[in-house]
Amino acid sequence: MSGRVSRVRQAVIGWLYPPLCGACDLPLEAERQLSKPFLCGDCEATLVPIGSHYCRVCGQGFESTGTVPFRCANCGDRELAIDFAVSAYRGSGVGRDLMHRFKYGRQRQLGRLFGVMLDEVWRDERLHEGSWWVVPVPLHPRRLRERGFNQSRELARELIRRAPAGVRLTLQPFLRRVKQTTRQAQLDRRDRLANLYDVFESRKKLPPAPAEGARILLVDDVITTGTTVSECAAVLREGFKIKKIAAVSVLRG
Ligand SMILES: [Zn+2]
Ligand SMILES: [Zn+2]
Repeated sequence: MSGRVSRVRQAVIGWLYPPLCGACDLPLEAERQLSKPFLCGDCEATLVPIGSHYCRVCGQGFESTGTVPFRCANCGDRELAIDFAVSAYRGSGVGRDLMHRFKYGRQRQLGRLFGVMLDEVWRDERLHEGSWWVVPVPLHPRRLRERGFNQSRELARELIRRAPAGVRLTLQPFLRRVKQTTRQAQLDRRDRLANLYDVFESRKKLPPAPAEGARILLVDDVITTGTTVSECAAVLREGFKIKKIAAVSVLRG
């Protein structure tokens, strides 16, 4: 759909159903809704972008203003199967509330807002190298039925739709979740690792990887320790010759 038709359609929808802020339910002006869908200015002001100072491996943001690439103490002693992760915003406050409403409150439209928030990850120049297969972190089929959608797949679609010029992204839902797990957020770190053992599988039919190896971009809503995306990456490394595996998320826990 062209930008103009989309704007007209948006205006009509906005007139029929004035959009509300997904965090505080304040009605939004049409112009606001176009630039930051479902987010008012006051709520936006409380969001904290990860910014430019973050771990070059796990993506954890830090207060310091130094610019030297570094690896942080949170992941320095761990083997991660991803090459690197990049997150857009800190997973606290309004960001966390919005994500909660998106996933558990049947507010699927918030995917559009998270798509805009995901624009932040393109600050990382390593993501601009050529083309990627985009692989959403899968939900277990039972949870998918309960929720009606896989949030990571919605985010992957938005990421692809809004990708900057010169970056080619194609959706490749290669993974399945074969074990239903306790929500990661409810577990401590050691239990998280045990909880994720043998959770993911690759689908049976996979396309041949490019000769130089596949470049894969995993998409998740929240990255906390990096264990989930690392487990996904480990499974993909068994199925393909891999050039690079990166992971992106809207929030960093
Ligand atoms: Zn608000
Ligand atoms: Zn790190």
